[in-house]
Amino acid sequence: MKLSKDQELYRQLTEQFAEELYNLAEKDINKILLLQKNDRDILLVELSKIMMHYNTTDNVLNLSSTEKVKISNKLNKVINEAMKEEIKSETDKITEILKKSGLDKYYTNSYILSLGLIFTIKKVDDKVLNRIIKKTIKGKNYSDRIWDNKNKVAKLLRNEVKKFVNGETNLNKIEKLIKNIFNANAYNTKRLAQTEIARVMEGLNDAWQWENDIKWVLYSATLDMKTCNDCGQYDGLVFDIDKKPVELPKHPMCRCTYIALPHKGYRPKTRRDNENKHSVNWTTYGKWKEENNI
Ligand SMILES: [Zn+2]
Repeated sequence: MKLSKDQELYRQLTEQFAEELYNLAEKDINKILLLQKNDRDILLVELSKIMMHYNTTDNVLNLSSTEKVKISNKLNKVINEAMKEEIKSETDKITEILKKSGLDKYYTNSYILSLGLIFTIKKVDDKVLNRIIKKTIKGKNYSDRIWDNKNKVAKLLRNEVKKFVNGETNLNKIEKLIKNIFNANAYNTKRLAQTEIARVMEGLNDAWQWENDIKWVLYSATLDMKTCNDCGQYDGLVFDIDKKPVELPKHPMCRCTYIALPHKGYRPKTRRDNENKHSVNWTTYGKWKEENNI
């Protein structure tokens, strides 16, 4: 199916706004990662303090059994508290990001459609939003997964601390291992957040399409960071709204999406060409939101 000029514009704008949404979310994710770095540094400082205050042989701790118990307890407390705090703050912040990205996905769709069509803008039902955000996959939702991930990190850290206290490893080695564990911690958070953002955005996208009587959708793999064959095979194909071939996201960090194809009455006043490509952007969307009390 060949897209008309107006449908092609609609596709481009949808991708442009989705990209903006991913960029905004990425900034928020990076803020979460700063807290993790701080936790890592606190633990590393504790370890070097211990090296300075206690007896060492060849850069390895040489502790009495009482000292071992005391230091283990202290370090495990630092680890457990850090992870407890990360669970709480990451769950809160990711929930916030999911709400924001989901709502903006829904309303950017409305905005783009409003450029070329007069229609009644429907508000997102809170129940629908929450149902999409809290949806479980294989029995778990994102907050369960954050909890699982952090417990795994805590276990790995406690294990390294145990070896350190028992004199089985030196400061250099444990520092390196702890940095690796925290790098994996950051990667997991990023992957989880990005995958969930894509899932929630697509959930709201789907809800929006049904709300607005969309009949046809175009599969777009344009924003997918690494288009695999699985995703690439559908790119550019048009499907009946109730015959979407796969549920998205298809893989972690997948950014594929089904773009609504507006019907023939869609006629934007301004086509996005070289002269006016700045007339349709995030700021105009912001103004539109204000005007419509969104
Ligand atoms: Zn994909």
